[in-house]
Amino acid sequence: MAIFRDIQGTLQPFWVTLRTLFKKPVTYQYPEQKRTPFPRYRARIVLTRDPDGGERCVACHLCSAACPVDCISMQAAEAPDGRRYAAWFRINFARCIYCGLCTEACPTLAIQMSADYEFCKRDPLSFVYEKEDLLIADGGKDSTYDFYRHAGIGVVNPRGKGDDEFGPVDPKSLMP
Ligand code: SF4
Ligand code: SF4
Repeated sequence: MAIFRDIQGTLQPFWVTLRTLFKKPVTYQYPEQKRTPFPRYRARIVLTRDPDGGERCVACHLCSAACPVDCISMQAAEAPDGRRYAAWFRINFARCIYCGLCTEACPTLAIQMSADYEFCKRDPLSFVYEKEDLLIADGGKDSTYDFYRHAGIGVVNPRGKGDDEFGPVDPKSLMP
């Protein structure tokens, strides 16, 4: 009956309040007492390096294409050995919504989200981070991964000689 459902609907919230009324409150005295974030916590973005210390980012623009708020921009450049890199790389954290789509799109694991949540500033312009502010001296969550050892673009290994890579195929050899 509707009357019993209404009474139950009215009393249930009181019961929830009553149940938690005498529990010990969990209060962190921030900033003196800091909370340890969960391992997969998504906060400040960083650019990581491969195991040899080189920049992982190959300036492919996939992260900026995936970003729903268009807060990543960069310019691609190429080293004499053929290795691509970002001449400059910029993230406007004032617009970032920490969705993680850029990290999902990145083929080299260069862009990753760290657990650094202490990221509050008054000046909006100070949220614009350049490559120097983003690059860390570590591989982040997968420190052994090296994109160039798998991609086989002739930088670390000759073409077709990378790990897990088949040699080049002559298309004419496939014709009937
Ligand atoms: S976390 Fe989301 S909003 Fe922030 S830079 Fe990456 S894709 Fe853009
Ligand atoms: S961070 Fe990753 S997705 Fe973005 S440009 Fe660099 S390699 Fe490409």
